[in-house]
Amino acid sequence: MNVSSFSVVKGSVLPRHDWTRDEAQALYDLPFADLMFQAQSVHRANFDPNHVETASLLSIKTGGCPEDCGYCSQSAHYKTDVKATKLMDHDDVIATARRAKESGANRFCMAAAWRNPKDKDLDRVCDMVSEVKALGLETCATLGMLTREQADRLRDAGLDFYNHNVDTSPEFYGHIITTRTMQDRIETLAHARESGLKVCCGGIVGMGEQVEDRLGMLMVLANLAEHPESVPINLWNEVKGVPVNGTANAPDPIEMVRMIAVARIMMPKSVVRLSAGRQYMTDEMQALCFLAGANSIFIGDVLLTTKNPQTDKDATLLNRLGIKSRFDEVRGSEQAPSSSRAV
Ligand code: SF4
Repeated sequence: MNVSSFSVVKGSVLPRHDWTRDEAQALYDLPFADLMFQAQSVHRANFDPNHVETASLLSIKTGGCPEDCGYCSQSAHYKTDVKATKLMDHDDVIATARRAKESGANRFCMAAAWRNPKDKDLDRVCDMVSEVKALGLETCATLGMLTREQADRLRDAGLDFYNHNVDTSPEFYGHIITTRTMQDRIETLAHARESGLKVCCGGIVGMGEQVEDRLGMLMVLANLAEHPESVPINLWNEVKGVPVNGTANAPDPIEMVRMIAVARIMMPKSVVRLSAGRQYMTDEMQALCFLAGANSIFIGDVLLTTKNPQTDKDATLLNRLGIKSRFDEVRGSEQAPSSSRAV
Protein backbone atom coordinates (compact mmCIF):
# COMPACT_ATOMS: atom_id res chain seq x y z
CA MET A 1 0.00 0.00 0.00
CA ASN A 2 1.34 3.38 -1.02
CA VAL A 3 0.75 5.69 1.89
CA SER A 4 2.27 8.87 0.52
CA SER A 5 -1.38 9.62 -0.01
CA PHE A 6 -1.51 13.34 0.58
CA SER A 7 -0.72 15.87 -2.12
CA VAL A 8 1.75 18.64 -1.44
CA VAL A 9 1.14 21.86 -3.34
CA LYS A 10 3.29 24.94 -2.80
CA GLY A 11 4.37 23.81 0.62
CA SER A 12 0.89 23.14 2.00
CA VAL A 13 -1.02 19.91 2.11
CA LEU A 14 -4.41 19.66 0.47
CA PRO A 15 -7.20 18.04 2.46
CA ARG A 16 -8.74 14.91 0.96
CA HIS A 17 -12.23 13.59 1.58
CA ASP A 18 -11.97 10.12 0.07
CA TRP A 19 -9.90 8.20 2.59
CA THR A 20 -10.23 4.44 2.57
CA ARG A 21 -9.91 2.05 5.47
CA ASP A 22 -6.83 0.47 3.92
CA GLU A 23 -5.11 3.83 3.62
CA ALA A 24 -5.89 4.77 7.21
CA GLN A 25 -4.67 1.40 8.46
CA ALA A 26 -1.53 1.56 6.31
CA LEU A 27 -0.66 4.96 7.79
CA TYR A 28 -1.30 3.66 11.30
CA ASP A 29 0.94 0.63 10.67
CA LEU A 30 3.91 2.61 9.34
CA PRO A 31 7.16 2.27 11.25
CA PHE A 32 6.85 4.82 14.06
CA ALA A 33 9.59 7.12 12.76
CA ASP A 34 8.06 7.19 9.28
CA LEU A 35 4.61 7.93 10.65
CA MET A 36 5.93 10.73 12.83
CA PHE A 37 7.92 12.17 9.93
CA GLN A 38 4.84 12.27 7.71
CA ALA A 39 2.70 13.76 10.47
CA GLN A 40 5.32 16.43 11.25
CA SER A 41 5.68 17.26 7.56
CA VAL A 42 1.94 17.79 7.22
CA HIS A 43 1.82 19.69 10.50
CA ARG A 44 4.62 22.07 9.55
CA ALA A 45 3.07 22.73 6.14
CA ASN A 46 -0.11 23.95 7.84
CA PHE A 47 0.67 25.18 11.34
CA ASP A 48 3.33 26.72 13.53
CA PRO A 49 4.73 23.48 15.01
CA ASN A 50 5.63 25.27 18.24
CA HIS A 51 2.22 26.67 19.12
CA VAL A 52 -0.80 25.17 20.84
CA GLU A 53 -4.25 26.61 21.28
CA THR A 54 -5.65 26.75 24.82
CA ALA A 55 -9.39 26.30 25.27
CA SER A 56 -11.50 26.28 28.40
CA LEU A 57 -14.66 24.25 28.92
CA LEU A 58 -17.50 24.96 31.34
CA SER A 59 -20.53 22.81 32.06
CA ILE A 60 -23.32 25.39 32.06
CA LYS A 61 -26.02 22.75 32.64
CA THR A 62 -24.93 19.53 34.28
CA GLY A 63 -26.51 16.08 34.49
CA GLY A 64 -30.03 14.75 34.01
CA CYS A 65 -29.47 14.19 30.29
CA PRO A 66 -32.04 11.94 28.58
CA GLU A 67 -29.44 10.45 26.22
CA ASP A 68 -27.83 7.13 27.11
CA CYS A 69 -24.19 7.70 26.05
CA GLY A 70 -22.57 4.76 27.83
CA TYR A 71 -19.47 6.71 28.88
CA CYS A 72 -21.18 9.72 30.38
CA SER A 73 -21.62 10.59 34.05
CA GLN A 74 -24.36 13.07 33.10
CA SER A 75 -26.78 10.61 31.57
CA ALA A 76 -30.00 10.18 33.56
CA HIS A 77 -29.92 6.49 32.58
CA TYR A 78 -27.09 5.70 35.01
CA LYS A 79 -26.50 6.03 38.73
CA THR A 80 -23.41 8.21 39.01
CA ASP A 81 -22.05 10.77 41.45
CA VAL A 82 -23.19 13.68 39.27
CA LYS A 83 -26.13 15.75 40.48
CA ALA A 84 -28.39 17.35 37.91
CA THR A 85 -28.39 21.14 37.98
CA LYS A 86 -30.31 23.88 36.20
CA LEU A 87 -28.82 26.13 33.54
CA MET A 88 -26.18 28.27 35.24
CA ASP A 89 -26.79 31.85 36.11
CA HIS A 90 -25.69 34.22 33.32
CA ASP A 91 -23.35 36.29 35.47
CA ASP A 92 -21.62 33.20 36.86
CA VAL A 93 -20.90 31.97 33.32
CA ILE A 94 -19.48 35.33 32.31
CA ALA A 95 -17.35 35.52 35.47
CA THR A 96 -15.98 32.05 34.71
CA ALA A 97 -15.22 33.06 31.13
CA ARG A 98 -13.39 36.13 32.35
CA ARG A 99 -11.28 34.00 34.69
CA ALA A 100 -10.57 31.53 31.87
CA LYS A 101 -9.29 34.39 29.72
CA GLU A 102 -7.11 35.65 32.57
CA SER A 103 -5.72 32.12 33.00
CA GLY A 104 -4.65 31.91 29.35
CA ALA A 105 -7.61 30.51 27.41
CA ASN A 106 -8.28 31.78 23.94
CA ARG A 107 -11.55 29.88 23.46
CA PHE A 108 -14.41 29.36 25.90
CA CYS A 109 -16.70 26.36 25.36
CA MET A 110 -20.10 26.16 27.04
CA ALA A 111 -21.54 22.67 27.44
CA ALA A 112 -25.09 21.72 28.38
CA ALA A 113 -26.29 18.17 29.05
CA TRP A 114 -29.33 18.28 26.78
CA ARG A 115 -30.65 16.06 24.01
CA ASN A 116 -31.38 19.35 22.26
CA PRO A 117 -31.90 22.89 23.55
CA LYS A 118 -35.41 24.24 24.16
CA ASP A 119 -35.96 27.62 22.58
CA LYS A 120 -36.31 29.44 25.91
CA ASP A 121 -33.01 27.94 27.09
CA LEU A 122 -31.38 28.86 23.81
CA ASP A 123 -32.33 32.51 24.38
CA ARG A 124 -30.30 32.44 27.58
CA VAL A 125 -27.37 30.63 25.96
CA CYS A 126 -27.36 33.17 23.12
CA ASP A 127 -27.05 35.98 25.68
CA MET A 128 -24.12 34.15 27.27
CA VAL A 129 -22.45 33.64 23.89
CA SER A 130 -22.74 37.33 23.01
CA GLU A 131 -21.20 38.44 26.27
CA VAL A 132 -18.38 35.88 26.19
CA LYS A 133 -17.60 36.97 22.63
CA ALA A 134 -17.50 40.59 23.80
CA LEU A 135 -14.75 39.62 26.26
CA GLY A 136 -12.54 38.88 23.26
CA LEU A 137 -12.74 35.11 23.53
CA GLU A 138 -13.57 32.67 20.75
CA THR A 139 -16.88 31.06 21.57
CA CYS A 140 -17.92 27.42 21.33
CA ALA A 141 -21.06 25.64 22.51
CA THR A 142 -22.12 22.03 22.81
CA LEU A 143 -25.85 21.74 23.50
CA GLY A 144 -26.91 18.51 21.80
CA MET A 145 -28.79 18.25 18.54
CA LEU A 146 -29.60 21.51 16.79
CA THR A 147 -32.07 22.55 14.14
CA ARG A 148 -30.86 24.81 11.36
CA GLU A 149 -32.84 27.68 12.84
CA GLN A 150 -31.22 27.20 16.26
CA ALA A 151 -27.80 27.14 14.62
CA ASP A 152 -28.61 30.44 12.91
CA ARG A 153 -29.61 31.99 16.21
CA LEU A 154 -26.35 30.91 17.83
CA ARG A 155 -24.38 32.27 14.89
CA ASP A 156 -26.20 35.59 15.11
CA ALA A 157 -25.38 35.74 18.83
CA GLY A 158 -21.68 35.50 18.01
CA LEU A 159 -20.96 31.79 18.27
CA ASP A 160 -17.79 30.76 16.44
CA PHE A 161 -17.78 26.96 16.89
CA TYR A 162 -20.37 24.28 17.50
CA ASN A 163 -19.16 21.07 19.11
CA HIS A 164 -20.96 17.83 18.38
CA ASN A 165 -18.85 14.68 18.50
CA VAL A 166 -19.38 11.51 16.50
CA ASP A 167 -17.80 9.70 19.47
CA THR A 168 -16.62 6.50 17.73
CA SER A 169 -16.83 4.46 14.54
CA PRO A 170 -20.19 3.75 12.88
CA GLU A 171 -19.61 0.05 13.64
CA PHE A 172 -19.01 0.52 17.38
CA TYR A 173 -21.50 3.34 17.84
CA GLY A 174 -24.48 1.11 18.71
CA HIS A 175 -22.52 -0.43 21.61
CA ILE A 176 -22.23 3.01 23.21
CA ILE A 177 -25.38 5.01 22.38
CA THR A 178 -28.89 3.95 21.45
CA THR A 179 -30.94 7.12 21.93
CA ARG A 180 -29.61 8.98 18.90
CA THR A 181 -28.00 7.74 15.73
CA MET A 182 -24.74 8.64 14.07
CA GLN A 183 -26.88 10.08 11.25
CA ASP A 184 -28.62 12.40 13.75
CA ARG A 185 -25.20 13.70 14.65
CA ILE A 186 -24.16 14.19 11.05
CA GLU A 187 -27.36 16.18 10.47
CA THR A 188 -26.62 18.51 13.38
CA LEU A 189 -23.11 19.02 12.02
CA ALA A 190 -24.65 19.88 8.64
CA HIS A 191 -26.97 22.43 10.25
CA ALA A 192 -24.02 24.05 11.98
CA ARG A 193 -22.08 24.15 8.71
CA GLU A 194 -24.98 25.54 6.70
CA SER A 195 -25.29 28.33 9.27
CA GLY A 196 -21.68 29.26 8.78
CA LEU A 197 -20.53 28.02 12.18
CA LYS A 198 -17.16 26.33 12.45
CA VAL A 199 -17.35 22.72 13.51
CA CYS A 200 -15.64 21.03 16.44
CA CYS A 201 -16.09 17.27 16.17
CA GLY A 202 -14.12 14.30 17.41
CA GLY A 203 -14.58 11.35 19.69
CA ILE A 204 -13.42 9.17 22.53
CA VAL A 205 -10.94 6.34 22.68
CA GLY A 206 -10.55 3.68 25.33
CA MET A 207 -14.19 2.60 25.59
CA GLY A 208 -13.65 -0.98 24.41
CA GLU A 209 -13.32 -0.22 20.73
CA GLN A 210 -10.63 -1.72 18.52
CA VAL A 211 -7.94 0.16 16.60
CA GLU A 212 -10.13 -0.30 13.50
CA ASP A 213 -12.90 1.64 15.24
CA ARG A 214 -10.57 4.50 16.10
CA LEU A 215 -9.52 4.67 12.47
CA GLY A 216 -13.16 4.29 11.40
CA MET A 217 -14.04 7.34 13.48
CA LEU A 218 -11.22 9.34 11.85
CA MET A 219 -12.54 8.25 8.46
CA VAL A 220 -16.02 9.60 9.26
CA LEU A 221 -14.46 12.95 10.18
CA ALA A 222 -11.97 13.07 7.32
CA ASN A 223 -14.57 12.15 4.71
CA LEU A 224 -17.02 14.89 5.70
CA ALA A 225 -17.48 17.43 2.89
CA GLU A 226 -15.46 19.85 5.03
CA HIS A 227 -13.13 18.70 7.76
CA PRO A 228 -14.03 19.92 11.26
CA GLU A 229 -11.91 22.94 12.12
CA SER A 230 -11.32 21.35 15.54
CA VAL A 231 -10.95 17.64 16.24
CA PRO A 232 -11.04 16.82 19.96
CA ILE A 233 -9.65 13.40 20.84
CA ASN A 234 -10.75 12.30 24.30
CA LEU A 235 -9.27 9.49 26.31
CA TRP A 236 -12.05 7.91 28.30
CA ASN A 237 -12.13 9.04 31.93
CA GLU A 238 -13.04 6.39 34.40
CA VAL A 239 -16.60 7.13 35.58
CA LYS A 240 -18.30 4.98 38.19
CA GLY A 241 -21.75 3.69 37.36
CA VAL A 242 -21.71 3.84 33.55
CA PRO A 243 -21.69 0.83 31.19
CA VAL A 244 -18.36 1.67 29.56
CA ASN A 245 -16.72 0.80 32.87
CA GLY A 246 -17.24 -2.80 31.93
CA THR A 247 -15.61 -2.58 28.50
CA ALA A 248 -12.97 0.15 28.85
CA ASN A 249 -9.57 -0.54 27.30
CA ALA A 250 -7.18 2.40 27.48
CA PRO A 251 -4.95 2.46 24.40
CA ASP A 252 -1.29 2.11 25.13
CA PRO A 253 0.53 5.44 24.78
CA ILE A 254 2.14 4.55 21.44
CA GLU A 255 -1.27 3.60 20.02
CA MET A 256 -2.61 6.96 21.13
CA VAL A 257 0.29 8.82 19.51
CA ARG A 258 -0.18 6.84 16.30
CA MET A 259 -3.83 7.78 16.23
CA ILE A 260 -3.06 11.47 16.69
CA ALA A 261 -0.51 11.26 13.85
CA VAL A 262 -3.06 9.63 11.54
CA ALA A 263 -5.62 12.31 12.44
CA ARG A 264 -3.07 14.99 11.60
CA ILE A 265 -2.30 13.45 8.21
CA MET A 266 -5.93 12.76 7.27
CA MET A 267 -7.14 16.22 8.37
CA PRO A 268 -4.12 18.41 7.63
CA LYS A 269 -5.70 21.78 8.36
CA SER A 270 -7.75 20.82 11.42
CA VAL A 271 -6.68 21.72 14.92
CA VAL A 272 -6.33 18.43 16.81
CA ARG A 273 -7.09 18.77 20.50
CA LEU A 274 -5.97 16.55 23.35
CA SER A 275 -9.16 16.75 25.36
CA ALA A 276 -10.46 14.70 28.29
CA GLY A 277 -8.13 12.14 29.78
CA ARG A 278 -4.91 14.19 29.76
CA GLN A 279 -4.58 13.58 33.49
CA TYR A 280 -3.76 9.98 32.59
CA MET A 281 -1.02 10.99 30.15
CA THR A 282 2.59 11.46 31.15
CA ASP A 283 4.38 14.60 30.04
CA GLU A 284 6.38 12.45 27.64
CA MET A 285 3.24 11.02 26.04
CA GLN A 286 1.79 14.50 25.59
CA ALA A 287 5.07 15.67 24.08
CA LEU A 288 4.87 12.85 21.53
CA CYS A 289 1.25 13.78 20.78
CA PHE A 290 2.33 17.37 20.09
CA LEU A 291 5.10 16.05 17.85
CA ALA A 292 2.48 13.92 16.06
CA GLY A 293 0.42 17.03 15.32
CA ALA A 294 -1.83 17.72 18.30
CA ASN A 295 -2.01 21.49 18.68
CA SER A 296 -4.72 22.28 21.18
CA ILE A 297 -5.48 21.45 24.80
CA PHE A 298 -8.20 22.19 27.29
CA ILE A 299 -6.88 24.12 30.27
CA GLY A 300 -8.42 24.41 33.73
CA ASP A 301 -8.52 21.98 36.62
CA VAL A 302 -11.93 20.53 35.73
CA LEU A 303 -13.39 19.41 32.40
CA LEU A 304 -17.15 19.21 32.73
CA THR A 305 -17.34 16.67 35.54
CA THR A 306 -13.84 15.17 35.36
CA LYS A 307 -10.34 16.20 36.34
CA ASN A 308 -7.83 17.92 34.07
CA PRO A 309 -4.16 18.72 34.72
CA GLN A 310 -3.51 21.83 36.83
CA THR A 311 -2.95 24.95 34.75
CA ASP A 312 0.52 25.45 36.27
CA LYS A 313 1.50 21.94 35.24
CA ASP A 314 0.38 22.62 31.67
CA ALA A 315 2.23 25.92 31.54
CA THR A 316 5.35 24.18 32.81
CA LEU A 317 5.10 21.38 30.25
CA LEU A 318 4.60 23.76 27.33
CA ASN A 319 7.51 25.84 28.52
CA ARG A 320 9.77 22.78 28.78
CA LEU A 321 8.87 21.95 25.20
CA GLY A 322 9.37 25.51 23.92
CA ILE A 323 5.73 25.60 22.83
CA LYS A 324 4.04 28.99 22.67
CA SER A 325 0.45 29.53 23.76
CA ARG A 326 -1.71 32.24 25.28
CA PHE A 327 -0.11 31.29 28.58
CA ASP A 328 2.88 33.34 27.46
CA GLU A 329 0.77 36.45 27.00
CA VAL A 330 -0.98 36.25 30.34
CA ARG A 331 1.79 34.90 32.50
CA GLY A 332 4.91 36.54 31.11
CA SER A 333 8.30 35.14 31.80
CA GLU A 334 8.21 35.58 35.58
CA GLN A 335 5.89 32.60 36.03
CA ALA A 336 7.10 30.53 33.15
CA PRO A 337 9.57 28.04 34.58
CA SER A 338 12.97 27.66 33.03
CA SER A 339 13.14 24.90 30.43
CA SER A 340 15.95 23.32 32.41
CA ARG A 341 14.06 23.14 35.69
CA ALA A 342 13.18 19.67 36.85
CA VAL A 343 9.48 19.05 37.38
S1 SF4 B 1 -25.64 13.82 25.15
FE1 SF4 B 1 -23.84 14.62 26.18
S2 SF4 B 1 -24.47 15.01 28.30
FE2 SF4 B 1 -26.04 13.70 27.37
S3 SF4 B 1 -25.43 11.61 27.95
FE3 SF4 B 1 -24.53 12.02 25.91
S4 SF4 B 1 -22.46 12.85 26.34
FE4 SF4 B 1 -23.66 12.95 28.27
